[in-house]
Amino acid sequence: MTVRAVVAAGTDIGHVREGNEDSFLAEEPLFAVADGMGGHRGGEVASSLALETIERMFARGEGELVEQVREANRAVFERSTLDRAVAGMGTTLTAALLEGDHIRLAHVGDSRAYLVRDGRLRLLTEDHTLVHRMVLEGELTEAEAEVHPHRSILTRALGVDPDVEVDEITLEVRAGDRLLLCSDGLTGMLPEPRVEEILGAEVEPQRAVDRLIREANDAGGVDNITAIVIALTDADIDPSEGDTSATTDTAALGGRAERTSGSAEQEPPRPTPRSLASSRRPKPPWPKLATWVGVTLGILVLAFVGLRLYLDSQWFVGVSDGRVAVYRGIPAQVAGFDLNHVVVETSIPADAATSFALYRDLPDGITADDREEAQQIVEQIRRDTAIGQQDAGAGGGA
Ligand code: MG
Repeated sequence: MTVRAVVAAGTDIGHVREGNEDSFLAEEPLFAVADGMGGHRGGEVASSLALETIERMFARGEGELVEQVREANRAVFERSTLDRAVAGMGTTLTAALLEGDHIRLAHVGDSRAYLVRDGRLRLLTEDHTLVHRMVLEGELTEAEAEVHPHRSILTRALGVDPDVEVDEITLEVRAGDRLLLCSDGLTGMLPEPRVEEILGAEVEPQRAVDRLIREANDAGGVDNITAIVIALTDADIDPSEGDTSATTDTAALGGRAERTSGSAEQEPPRPTPRSLASSRRPKPPWPKLATWVGVTLGILVLAFVGLRLYLDSQWFVGVSDGRVAVYRGIPAQVAGFDLNHVVVETSIPADAATSFALYRDLPDGITADDREEAQQIVEQIRRDTAIGQQDAGAGGGA
């Protein structure tokens, strides 16, 4: 028997964080939650880059899920090594792939996957946290771990080392099962019995997601909250009674803010930039010239830093590898250097979008005020291209 999925997903900034560093991916049959860390920008880049990597590899049929997760690790690690602005970033990743009547899970970090069967909630993943290790070693009880101030310190995350150990779980599923993928902003706020009650009361996935997020916020919302509920139904039964709007074909890749509440140890120390002018120089032959060189260098450094800050605040939607992509920066080059980088590459073929007059400027870049707006443009393109395909099919002409 094969099962089909009715999916709903949501993410929320919570009440405390300044941004949302969580990201999720809900493109049947691939679902994933990632919780970024390493400062505002780093966490956002890490979680979206990880999901973008597995999404792209999956779309191209490259490797098994676990290999896609290892590649996501390499991608985050390399970016973190190359770009000082995001040095030390990392992310959790809990991914689920629906294959016939099996779910394959790949997991690193403290986001979680649960199975809901016959009304009971069962944790499928193991937290890669210091407190969980201490519980296993008998140093803490489960109850102490739940409220421990360092409960968010990870023992394993994506992007920290060139290689990562990935937990793999394969599970047989059946119609009626539900799967919950979530970040620790949900499970840190709501005890498991409450999550079980909510999922018992709200059978419809979107209602379940909305209520989980609302109650996590009501309980304090100290972290970003992300939840995906995947309800499995019999593929042979006509799903006309189901709410088809809940099946997501929209990959929503959100992202931002601090990953853990007030734990400064999560924030990797930044290398202090050394002043170019401060090093001791052996008595300069022409002191005046040296001063002018110093001043000029100083101005160049300031100009560079200013440009960098400016570029980091700019967003646009463009084309990367023939697909619609969200970029940070401006769509331009200076002396052969791109003033931008891809943040999310979607699965939407660029030609599908540029066939619409509205998106003819896409190859040159459609600018957006912020990441939200860029994401909205992508979602609009996704909807429009899907509508276009439907129309072409329904019309039957040409
Ligand atoms: Mg979190």
